[in-house]
Amino acid sequence: MRGTVLHAPGDVRVEELSDPQIVDPTDVVLRLEATCVCGSDLWRYRGEDSFSSPQHMGHEYVGVVERVGSDVVTLAVGERVVGSFFASDNTCEICASGYQSSCVHRQLMSGAQSELLRVPLADGTLVRVEGEPSDSQLRGLLAASDVLGTGWFGALAAAVAPGKTVVVVGDGAVGLLAVLSAHLLGAERIIAMSRHASRQQLAREFGATDIVAERGDEGVERVRELTGGLGAHSVIEAVGTPDAMSQAFGVTRAGGHLGFVGVSHGVRLEGRDLFMSHVHLHGGPAPVREYLPDLVGRIMRGEIDPGRVFDLDLALTDVAEAYRAMDERRAIKAMLRP
Ligand SMILES: [Zn+2]
Repeated sequence: MRGTVLHAPGDVRVEELSDPQIVDPTDVVLRLEATCVCGSDLWRYRGEDSFSSPQHMGHEYVGVVERVGSDVVTLAVGERVVGSFFASDNTCEICASGYQSSCVHRQLMSGAQSELLRVPLADGTLVRVEGEPSDSQLRGLLAASDVLGTGWFGALAAAVAPGKTVVVVGDGAVGLLAVLSAHLLGAERIIAMSRHASRQQLAREFGATDIVAERGDEGVERVRELTGGLGAHSVIEAVGTPDAMSQAFGVTRAGGHLGFVGVSHGVRLEGRDLFMSHVHLHGGPAPVREYLPDLVGRIMRGEIDPGRVFDLDLALTDVAEAYRAMDERRAIKAMLRP
């Protein structure tokens, strides 16, 4: 099969690789219909996360079951499924409490920017899609695999609810879908922090009521002005840098909730500031599996169109251009068709 390998920062290629096999009896092998490049892949692409051996990239996927391990009971060959970036048994106490991305048997997925993908713990990890998706629904399902599920978790972690004012820091796919999630959860006011016209536009279409283009202290000041000097009830941080986290922390009101879903890189919080803030902090790798059945249902009923974050469509063989376009912020998110 063909699959994507990152050899060194900036050097990503599609290569001929051996087909994945059933290793454990709880595995399935999928033939992928759609996959994509994640903002988090860019950390390694840019050399900001070090790695010593070539990396088989990708953890977002929609596909059709091609082979089934002998212990798999809920899935059959030919069924269309969506999974996420952690495989999980979906039965342990941690899974049962809604934190499948911390499952005691979790396995980090990789290798999804490929034609075929091995998925461990398939019964627990994968969610079946009923019905034949349209092209926009297929894009939506791919978004559900990570960025929608992550934005949704960010909104829940930030305790978004009717009547609340929400701030979203970050205008990548996760930030934009956090706006959509906040809208679906009934937020009264949604302030998107973005400096890019096309992303501001999509944020508005997803439900943002206000846009703040300022950053740093000016950005904090502007949000404070918009919220009667208090800051927002619910803030979603969807970048992972120290600047973004400090922005997010700075606009959360006393007693408010900050949901952080950007993969943390160099973020430091001062205990004394936390102590004095009365801010509730919650975040981490989203338990996307928990939300997939609901999100897949909303997509297949045509209630939401999260696949709009894919603004670049390429064949898998053009993966290098997909990484370049996202690295240069020419594209919000690149979809790859194996
Ligand atoms: Zn578990």
